[in-house]
Amino acid sequence: MLFKKKKIERLVSIKKDVVNSISTYCQIKHPNESILILKGNSKNGKILIDGLVIPPFSHTGPTFAGFPQSFLPFDMSYLGIVHSHPSGSAEPSLTDSHNFFGLVSLIVQFPYGDEDIFAWDSKGNSIKLEIV
Ligand SMILES: [Zn+2]
Repeated sequence: MLFKKKKIERLVSIKKDVVNSISTYCQIKHPNESILILKGNSKNGKILIDGLVIPPFSHTGPTFAGFPQSFLPFDMSYLGIVHSHPSGSAEPSLTDSHNFFGLVSLIVQFPYGDEDIFAWDSKGNSIKLEIV
């Protein structure tokens, strides 16, 4: 007989004004990728994103966005990163999964609207996302 471990229902909640900021930032950077650090808190699989930080020394281009993580101050409120895919697909790339940071990775696909944001875990599984 097989016993399955109880899976924690994960949910990412993101504030509407944070979504607006991400959307604006991505549009300014377009057609290059943009990258931002997500701030907030998490408890029992529930992640709340309520702020953004522009990463230091970030470098971006049409198909990449990154920053040296060693320059980041240790901060427990850093939940992960959000970056844009100007190509219009929100699927995480191989590079994305190699550069996973924190608990959650958000990817915004062109044209960067509310419906264009998707949340992923470190294994590339999608996580439910709600705008609050
Ligand atoms: Zn990517």
